[in-house]
Amino acid sequence: MFARIKFYLKSFLFLELLQGLGVTGRYFFRKKVTVQYPEQKTPISPRFRGLHALRRYANGEERCIACKLCEAVCPAVAITIESEQRADGTRRTTRYDIDLFKCIYCGFCEEACPVDAIVETNIFEYHFENRGENIMTKEMLLEFGDRYEEQLAADRAADAPYR
Ligand code: SF4
Ligand code: SF4
Repeated sequence: MFARIKFYLKSFLFLELLQGLGVTGRYFFRKKVTVQYPEQKTPISPRFRGLHALRRYANGEERCIACKLCEAVCPAVAITIESEQRADGTRRTTRYDIDLFKCIYCGFCEEACPVDAIVETNIFEYHFENRGENIMTKEMLLEFGDRYEEQLAADRAADAPYR
């Protein structure tokens, strides 16, 4: 009986509405925490896993030695590698594709790579407009690696103590 009276009183006096307006009023004058994306951006962790890239050594040589560990460990079967032996006896990839429709950005590929060749950048703003653009080719991956090498090296240096 008491509960029913309380319920009707609350309904007729708009108590819950007033409580809600109280919360609104309290937060109305507080410092806003909303980030005005894309003009404002939040800091990104050096461990962020965005678009992939293939890195080179300082002398311009590709790091990737076509060991295919990344291909084997990828749980989404998103990586396709073909390779050949060069005249100097070293092995390099002739094809390195990543299907971004399959990739789940788990980071296993970069964890498995023994030479820090395949890495994930902090790029998360991208889209596709045409069929087939979901495949990142070796050329695209190397170009990304060249373009963002400074950031990639800095991220790895910052994360090194935790590896
Ligand atoms: S991030 Fe994960 S799913 Fe994507 S290519 Fe690498 S191993 Fe495969
Ligand atoms: S990216 Fe790394 S793990 Fe993958 S094939 Fe090249 S060297 Fe091996």
